[in-house]
Parts: sequence; structure tokens; C-alpha cells
Amino acid sequence: MPELRKARIATASLAGCFGCHMAILDIDERLIGLMGLVEFDRSPVNDIKKFTKRCDIGIIEGGCCNEENVHVLQDFRRNCDVLIALGQCAIMGGLPAMRNAVMHSENPLLECLEEAYISGRFIRNTTHQIPNDPALPLVLDKVYPLSEVVKIDYNIPGCAPTGDVIYSTLASLLAGKFRGFERELIKFD
Ligand code: SF4
Repeated sequence: MPELRKARIATASLAGCFGCHMAILDIDERLIGLMGLVEFDRSPVNDIKKFTKRCDIGIIEGGCCNEENVHVLQDFRRNCDVLIALGQCAIMGGLPAMRNAVMHSENPLLECLEEAYISGRFIRNTTHQIPNDPALPLVLDKVYPLSEVVKIDYNIPGCAPTGDVIYSTLASLLAGKFRGFERELIKFD
């Protein structure tokens, strides 16, 4: 009997802290069973940096704070049948999006960069310059949730989401039976 094809999964971290990727490991011993059903393509998990094939599921942590984030996200949308925003940074910008609240000056981005690199209370930057190497990706005017850049199929909430909600979402998607989250899995109080 021919072997069933494993689902291909790709993951990426954009403007996130990698906490959501660490939460994937919180699936714990269930990962062993899951690995019988899936294989990873482009992902920090295996250090594959480019898509090798079309993927069934793409999982993205973090929002978009620079142009490279946007390119990676668009690449995932092109190469994945289903795209999942994993965690609050991906869903609504999260902590990095706190800079979106800076709007007092004519150039809020410059105000943020000056605070971060020059005038902030705890900054010790002897060059008094904002990093401007051409290799650095262009910083966007604000931090964008993924859904403002491409179509997102599912959001898994939490900071970070629990291993349980990640596992149950992936297991039900793979079985074609996803019907939403059980309240207990997304209750954080
Ligand atoms: Fe990190 Fe939380 Fe953002 Fe995930 S949602 S990338 S854990 S800050």
C-alpha cells in the first residue's frame, strides 16, 4: 500500500521574539506523533531558508516592521495553501506595535529611532548615530499585523499560544476537522 503523503509545514519569525516558535516545542511528546504526519520545509526549525516545494501550512510568528518582513510574508502566502498567524504579534502587532502609538511629531518613525539609539534614558551610543547600513532592511512607518498585508486563514491567539492550542489546531487542520478553538485553550485569566 502506498505511504500517505506527509503534510508540509513552513514557519517563520518576523517581528517577534521567537517565543511562539518555542511554544511549538511545548507540544512536548505529542511532537513525535505529529512528526509522523508532517515534515518541515522552510523554517528556523531545520534552518531551510527557501521553499523547496509548495507547502500545505505556513505558520508565521510576529508582525511586519520592515520591508524584509513583508517580502517573507508575501513569499509564504504564495507558497502555502493555508497561512496561520501564530500569537499576538502576528495577529495585532503585539509589543513591537507599541511604537505605533508614537504620533506626537511630524516624523514618528524618526522619533522612535532617536529614542532607541540616541536620546533614550539608558542609551550608551558613542557614535550618536542611528544605524544606517545599506544591508539593513528598510523600517516601515509602523508595525503591521499580518492580516493587513496578506490574507490570513487562521489566527492562533496568545503570547505565546500554549502548546495545547497549537497542537489541537494543527491536529484538527490536518484531519480536516477544524471547527474553532475550545474555550479552555484560549482562556488566559
Ligand atoms: Fe513573542 Fe508573545 Fe510576540 Fe509570540 S506573541 S512573538 S511570544 S511577544
